[in-house]
Amino acid sequence: MNNKQTLLRKLPAIDKLLSDPQLRDAGEDIPQSLVLEAAQKTIDALRQSILQHPDQTGTLDLSIPGVAAEAAATARRLSEPSLQPVINATGTLLHTNLGRAPLSDAALDAVIEVSRGYSNLEFDLEQGERGHRYQHLEDLLCRLTGAEAATVVNNNAGAVLLALSAMASGKEAIVSRGELVEIGGAFRIPDVMAAGGVTLREVGTTNKTHLRDYRNAIGDETGLLLKVHTSNYRIVGFSSSVPASDLVGLGEEFGLPVLEDLGSGMLLDLTDAGLPREPTVRETVAAGIDVVTFSGDKLLGGPQAGLIVGKRAAIETIRRHPLARALRIDKMTLAALDATLRCYLDPELALQQLPVLQMLQLPAQTLRRRCQSLATRIRGALGDRADLTVIPETSRIGGGALPLTELPGYAVALSTTQMTADQLAAGLRRQQPPIVGRIQDDRLLLNPRTLQAKDTGKIVTALSNLLGQP
Ligand SMILES: *Cc1c(COP(=O)(O)O)cnc(C)c1O
Repeated sequence: MNNKQTLLRKLPAIDKLLSDPQLRDAGEDIPQSLVLEAAQKTIDALRQSILQHPDQTGTLDLSIPGVAAEAAATARRLSEPSLQPVINATGTLLHTNLGRAPLSDAALDAVIEVSRGYSNLEFDLEQGERGHRYQHLEDLLCRLTGAEAATVVNNNAGAVLLALSAMASGKEAIVSRGELVEIGGAFRIPDVMAAGGVTLREVGTTNKTHLRDYRNAIGDETGLLLKVHTSNYRIVGFSSSVPASDLVGLGEEFGLPVLEDLGSGMLLDLTDAGLPREPTVRETVAAGIDVVTFSGDKLLGGPQAGLIVGKRAAIETIRRHPLARALRIDKMTLAALDATLRCYLDPELALQQLPVLQMLQLPAQTLRRRCQSLATRIRGALGDRADLTVIPETSRIGGGALPLTELPGYAVALSTTQMTADQLAAGLRRQQPPIVGRIQDDRLLLNPRTLQAKDTGKIVTALSNLLGQP
């Protein structure tokens, strides 16, 4: 007890702390309010550890320079942006937690060009009067997909919600039990339908749904036939679903529109890059689906957005719905999306310039060479402090796209006697920039598929910081 009081009395006063050179220096480039907050936080934390763990206070440094150093470090942490670049060494191309698709140089340049000053976002330069935000993308999207009309919203979840609300609110939408998907982040098709005021009418079974199941469910209340791409899982084995074209035929027979949520949505056939055969957006449109929605930041390789293409009358209804205004995209997204889509006018260009498509196509042998050179550089810096091997590893696309697709490649597996793989991973996450890898069999795996050339040096530096020089 006595000891506690003595220690508490030793805590530096805030003004003494603030006049320490370390905190005065920090105050040169960090706002004073954050320096003060950091000083208070540091003292509070020390007070708490004295009160709660009086027996462990032997190692506490209560000197002014000691406490000031800690406060200065806290102030620096508080002043750093929370959202920051991260090195993705997981090999997962579309890691939703790591921001999905990295943007192309063209997309980034377009964002800067358009956002630095003013733009013709909603201004018709020919007529000198109000124009339309989505005009900029519509022709391009129609050219790329063969659709009559197109519009764009904030993300694909929003696109589905908006399309359902505009096309079938107050009515029933018929959907296969095999397609009642949950995408993660609480996006569940049944919940989205409820939010859109649409009554769910499930048909078929988990593994098999036939055209007659849809037909038998059609009644006076039916407003829409819905098809959802089962993007993040597959029902394999004894299974069947109804092809888009059959559903379109049924819709035409009963005068019902068909909406398809394609999820990732691909503008190119990527079978040459090792992906399974999936209908492209153009093929889905050609099958006669009234409205097709897909994401901007999955395999498309652009910014977060929900793209909606289809028949003119349906797109007009969607555009006029009040939710469209609530889900509208901003000029930065528009600029990045326009530049990304423009690449697809020449498929070769898209394959070369869009980072997601580049990384997707990396041959296993190239990845193996990159692993060997990464391992050599790490060995050069760490000597025998780390145990390094190059092992075969498959990557995933991620982001809920093509779950069964495995992209063959290699990874550097790293372990050290100094710490466990968990500690190593945690240490790398605390580096500047943070590095995120994968743990397997108590080794840390670094997969070069998602690394950029400039990342190698940063990984080597981070590991040296963490494990010390040889
Ligand atoms: C990813 C996905 C969504 C959600 O798209 P976001 O762009 O993330 O909002 C919706 N439906 C399907 C089938 C998906 O795969």
